[in-house]
Amino acid sequence: MAFELCKECDEPTGRAGKGEDSLYAGDFGPYCESCWGDVPEDLADIIEAQRRKMVSMNDIIVDLYESLESALSDRGYEGEDGIENYSEAKAFLPR
Ligand SMILES: [Zn+2]
Repeated sequence: MAFELCKECDEPTGRAGKGEDSLYAGDFGPYCESCWGDVPEDLADIIEAQRRKMVSMNDIIVDLYESLESALSDRGYEGEDGIENYSEAKAFLPR
């Protein structure tokens, strides 16, 4: 029988190993019986942290896009088609 330790408290789980009767939540684990009860809350925290990260990355992308639009507008590429027109114009510029 494989000897495995709980990923949370480092105590032996008393179970056989991944693919046997071990307690895993997807790739997270193994857990002992007592820590297993907290898994849904832990996973919810991980998912919430990922969601916050994605929201902040989205804000950064929006800021970059607005900066690009503004820079293009200063150079005469106006409106929603500015970025597309600039890409087309750039194709004719010498490299
Ligand atoms: Zn544990």
